[in-house]
Amino acid sequence: MENLQSSTLQLRKLTKRYSSFDAVRDLDLDVPSGSLLTLLGPSGCGKTTVLRMIAGFLNVTSGQILVDGKDISRSEPNFRDIGMVFQNYALFPHMTVEANVAFGLKMRGVTKEEQVTRVREALEMVQLAHLADRYPSQLSGGQQQRVALARAVVIKPKLLLLDEPLGALDRHLREGLQFELRELQKKLGITSILVTHDQDEALYLSDYIAVMNQGQIEQIDTPIALYDKPRSEFVARFLGVPNIFDARIVSTDAHHATIGLGGHTMPVSNMDGHAAGGECKVAIRPSHIEVVRADDGRLGLPGVVKTAHELGERVVYHVEVNDLKFEANTPRSSNFERFTVGHPVKLVLDPAHTVLLRA
Ligand code: ATP
Repeated sequence: MENLQSSTLQLRKLTKRYSSFDAVRDLDLDVPSGSLLTLLGPSGCGKTTVLRMIAGFLNVTSGQILVDGKDISRSEPNFRDIGMVFQNYALFPHMTVEANVAFGLKMRGVTKEEQVTRVREALEMVQLAHLADRYPSQLSGGQQQRVALARAVVIKPKLLLLDEPLGALDRHLREGLQFELRELQKKLGITSILVTHDQDEALYLSDYIAVMNQGQIEQIDTPIALYDKPRSEFVARFLGVPNIFDARIVSTDAHHATIGLGGHTMPVSNMDGHAAGGECKVAIRPSHIEVVRADDGRLGLPGVVKTAHELGERVVYHVEVNDLKFEANTPRSSNFERFTVGHPVKLVLDPAHTVLLRA
């Protein structure tokens, strides 16, 4: 990841060991100031463990957690200057909204007068100033989560940790709150780390995404770079690319490569350090494969349609090319040509979106 900004949070060789099992191993991470970074990965890869070590709820086995250059890895949670929002709200049920938001300020010895001003500002930010006197049980799930957010940011923390903050909400509400969360985080410029299972949420909210695999970071990039250019088979599969095949690199020049795939040769625009003569894996998204007539003059892979399903605005095809099964996804535009099962076709792969993966 290109990192020209300074980093508020730096993890250095962070490790959490349970007996002989490393839940997190030698993890290095820099989170640029003011940005939102998401930890994404399959269940059990260590996301929550990283977050809990940063918060101070879990002891580190070895390594460092630096916030603004200062090692906090052995500090008490209360002294870490970190705001947190969890999936299950965790508001104090016996306190009003106002008292919930004021709690952290009170603990820090902020004067009563300043508490009132800052609580009002924070509640206005999440559009809940009118509900200041209610109790959590008198609020909807979305409102409770907004209070939790106000409570986390009112202390002006150096770091905001968001652990599935919208996970308990239904889809519609979730999308509205994603937008609000993004706006608020940008406005306040608080360096934030998000853990989520929702890939769309990660792609929408994040400045950077770190994909984790077995306690380590497999790839860290901007959402677009990650989506367009997964570097390993693990990341490509995790991000839902169905077309991943073995290929051979036939030749290369400064910027391009020709690969052997399914018994044919195809151009690729980005060779990403791969050398001619080597074996590799290649990944391509269904929307970057055009299904055309078999007699189309363009360079492509000849195949046969195995399934064809019209789904809303798209047609999803499975096409067999020798032994390889491709999934292609064509828009149902007004003049699109319909191919049926058994039809011989040609697959035209977009060379700019045919990605060579690390072995
Ligand atoms: P999920 O997406 O399911 O929440 P995660 O990526 O957050 O998963 P973690 O909760 O960080 O995963 O767990 C990482 C690994 O550490 C898992 O394999 C888990 O079983 C293991 N682990 C967690 N806590 C303990 C513990 N107390 N003792 C032993 N192993 C543990």
